[in-house]
Amino acid sequence: MMDWMEIRQPLLAWYPEHHRELMWRNTKDPYKIWVSEIMLQQTRVEAVKGYYKRFLADLPDVEALAAVQEDRLLKLWEGLGYYNRARNMKKAACQIKEEHDGIFPRSYEEVLKLPGIGEYTAGAICSICYDSPCPAVDGNVLRVMTRLSGCFDNIDDQRTKHKVRDWLRPVYEAGDCCCLTQALMELGATVCLPNGVPQCMDCPLFKLCQANRDGTWDRLPVRRKKRDRRVEEKTVYILRNGDDYGIRKRNAEGLLANLWEFYHIEGTLSPQEAVHFIADQGFGPVELEKEITYTHVFSHVEWRMTAYYIACAARNDTLKWVERGALSGEYALPTAFRVFLEREP
Ligand code: SF4
Repeated sequence: MMDWMEIRQPLLAWYPEHHRELMWRNTKDPYKIWVSEIMLQQTRVEAVKGYYKRFLADLPDVEALAAVQEDRLLKLWEGLGYYNRARNMKKAACQIKEEHDGIFPRSYEEVLKLPGIGEYTAGAICSICYDSPCPAVDGNVLRVMTRLSGCFDNIDDQRTKHKVRDWLRPVYEAGDCCCLTQALMELGATVCLPNGVPQCMDCPLFKLCQANRDGTWDRLPVRRKKRDRRVEEKTVYILRNGDDYGIRKRNAEGLLANLWEFYHIEGTLSPQEAVHFIADQGFGPVELEKEITYTHVFSHVEWRMTAYYIACAARNDTLKWVERGALSGEYALPTAFRVFLEREP
């Protein structure tokens, strides 16, 4: 049985020397830590940097986030995916305004009540900003901890997360909670790697690690088998009339709710079928300029898209027609569709 207190000093000594300089590392402002933690869910650090900077420049505090229009919010989030993260942040900001006079709550229990904030994010905010003894257990930390202990429990099981949190609690109760949280996250991200061989020779916990002793690091952590994704085929039309492109707003519910999209239909049409179909819809196509295929992968579904770039002689009022500049600057077009703008003829 591992004595978890043994990981404390090596982690605290390692972190200041070895961490990456990231914009959200030099603050204890709970709003800024919250924004970074939500953005970093499902998204790589490199991809988050630009979004983080823009988001805080536009929406510097809870007040600004609570007041922002949804279209503007989605535009700031455009390309990050999982757009409910942004919608929940706005809901949470409104809740903080109403229930806490606009001041970010300090207790773990109150933070956990905010929309979109789970145990991990609440732990990260409270330990980093308030030095509270609340371990933040995410995928990185679960990987480090199950390898250290040689634990073969399934990390997708909530009980495993709670077990790991209980292991860490006394380590946190001894203080330096901000540094402990960041050290564990950083170790998981840069040394005890998720893909590929962990850099055990650079690991401050090398001598304590069971997986290293047993050579079992490549079998840990244990995860549930992923479900197969549903595949959907689509024919997408990038319709241009003069300098304007035809777009439409998605439904208010479901995947990519309230974002903008190019006109598309289910199934894959050949070039001839695609041109006939769009002519029947009253767009008066004059020229099929280009055809490309692109597959966009969401967590549970995969869109296999065949896209046709068509210059139209007529407009159909079912679409909104906007200039390229406005399309880039004002309308939130998710990556699944934005990619077609980037590859236009
Ligand atoms: S010694 Fe290797 S496997 Fe063990 S925690 Fe460190 S990096 Fe991970």
